[in-house]
Amino acid sequence: MNPSDRHRPDWHEYFMMLAKLAATRSTCLAFPVGAVIVKNKQILATGYNGPPSKSAHCIDLGYCYPGLDSCSSSQSLPSRAVHAEANAIAQAAKSGESTSGAKIYVTLEPCLNCLKLIISAGIAEVFYETPSSKKGNAVVRDIFLDEQLVKLNRIELSEKTIALAISSLQNQTSSLTMLNLG
Ligand SMILES: [Zn+2]
Ligand SMILES: [Zn+2]
Repeated sequence: MNPSDRHRPDWHEYFMMLAKLAATRSTCLAFPVGAVIVKNKQILATGYNGPPSKSAHCIDLGYCYPGLDSCSSSQSLPSRAVHAEANAIAQAAKSGESTSGAKIYVTLEPCLNCLKLIISAGIAEVFYETPSSKKGNAVVRDIFLDEQLVKLNRIELSEKTIALAISSLQNQTSSLTMLNLG
């Protein structure tokens, strides 16, 4: 195979793949979600769904808190999880990175609280993979979009990028066999 034929993910795919990898670290079992904040093509911070720093992980308990049999039960109740986007914004704040004018890649369309936080943190554009299933949120979301406070874009990985990522995860990424991918 000619090395120039090798598929190369574009920037959107690159950052979305990193958000998907971050989601593998989620510790609240309600939803695995990952987020990556990017500015000038540089990563400022990453985040995933889970209880605040030093609070017990749901994944270890099997539930969000005593009295619930799972994290899913907390979908209509308070949850202990800090959402991936909020964790990423908090991480940027903790390390003193300005999020003004940044972009955020997230595996799930932000909930209203995260969207408000994203706007207030000066993040200008959101790229998400899975649309939110909470239809009631659309009214408020669309007000923010009409006010041009933030841009929301849905993106999906191409088949070629998915194949490359799977192969890269399944095999030693830097071995010669990777170069033989069709
Ligand atoms: Zn939980
Ligand atoms: Zn959220």
